[in-house]
Amino acid sequence: MSLETTFERRSLPLEHAFTIARGTQTTAENVVVRITDEDGTVGVGGAAPSTHYGETADTVEAVLPDLLSVVEAVGDPHALARIERRMRETVNRNPAARCAVSIALHDLAAKQADLPLYRYWGLDAAEAVPTSFTIGIDDLPVVREKTEAAVDAGYDVLKVKVGTDRDEEILEAVRDAAPDATVRVDANEAWSPREAVRKIDALAEYDLEFVEQPVPAENPEGMRFVRERAALPIAADESCITLADVPRVVGQADVVNVKLMKCGGLREAKRMVHAARAHGLEVMLGCMIESNASIAAAAHLAPLLDYADLDGSLLLAEDPYDGVPMPAGAIDLARVERAGTAARR
Ligand SMILES: [Mg+2]
Repeated sequence: MSLETTFERRSLPLEHAFTIARGTQTTAENVVVRITDEDGTVGVGGAAPSTHYGETADTVEAVLPDLLSVVEAVGDPHALARIERRMRETVNRNPAARCAVSIALHDLAAKQADLPLYRYWGLDAAEAVPTSFTIGIDDLPVVREKTEAAVDAGYDVLKVKVGTDRDEEILEAVRDAAPDATVRVDANEAWSPREAVRKIDALAEYDLEFVEQPVPAENPEGMRFVRERAALPIAADESCITLADVPRVVGQADVVNVKLMKCGGLREAKRMVHAARAHGLEVMLGCMIESNASIAAAAHLAPLLDYADLDGSLLLAEDPYDGVPMPAGAIDLARVERAGTAARR
């Protein structure tokens, strides 16, 4: 068996500038890996590097040759455990780069088995949870307009970015436009612990599902302080990066937000899901702003989740890749007829 590998950078403009408590983004720099077998079947996988976790498209491109030489040396896309272990021995950090390879291998392995990825894993399409649609930080009329557009498009679950000096006004605008939606909020580490308890008490009036990452990840005792006192359940995102973090956030959060680009691949993400359940935590799968070269793979994990936040592709002006259909946020795996992840140019 032999495998050929290539990669290319994709600069993807967003539909609207996207603002969270940390800053604003107008383009997503993704790097897409292709792994081709002897029959010409191609596995596709994307990296969506995040500077918050120390990666850029440049660092991804810098380490991919070493990672892909492991893939070529092993030569078998079904040898997922061996390739993962050897990639970690080669490049221990750079999770988004390792993730692109992980996704491309899973895509190729499932294509060789002639099964959609969720069926290759033995999962049930009917158990998939819907994805939320994210409303970024913006002026109040824009927040209202974007929320109305999301409701018109049929989204039942909204994730609203907070961490501003006008969070209550933002939630009021959202609730006006979407009185029946399930609404969760994400503060992206914006608050101090005492401020978070106060803010969450006030925001709870708007009937919220949970609050993501109220305080900085560097302050685990602050997370615990908030979780013990806050009026709403707490989700850990920046505080929960890899498998080893799952037991650490017990007592600090009720939900963990697993992301492929933080943990380094689909196998690590599945381990995190099961470890979280064993520790009595609920599980959300989130994303960066990503094309379907990676979101399509994440969508195949939807049957294992309590919550999904997989709207990364929906925030792009245009996605060069097809993926799993998500009409009005319903992750419709049953409609995936192609083998693999369903990412296709
Ligand atoms: Mg988050």
